[in-house]
Amino acid sequence: MSKYKGMSREEVRQHSTRRLDEMRAAGIKFVSVMGCNNPGEDCEACMAIKDQKIENEFATPLPLPDCDKKFCKCIYIAVQ
Ligand SMILES: [Zn+2]
Repeated sequence: MSKYKGMSREEVRQHSTRRLDEMRAAGIKFVSVMGCNNPGEDCEACMAIKDQKIENEFATPLPLPDCDKKFCKCIYIAVQ
């Protein structure tokens, strides 16, 4: 996930929005948040919803509004 280094919140948001759009275009209906699995780097806002299955249509682009990290390194992944 080193490509996230140096990204601003706005860039993370744009990246996340694009990713969700691409998955919608690919017909992926459900997504889930995955953290970077580095102790201390995962933000609590993302970890709080990490095992939830979210309807892609309603997924909020990262960083979540209450994400407390300078760079949110979490990503959405497709789930069935
Ligand atoms: Zn986050």
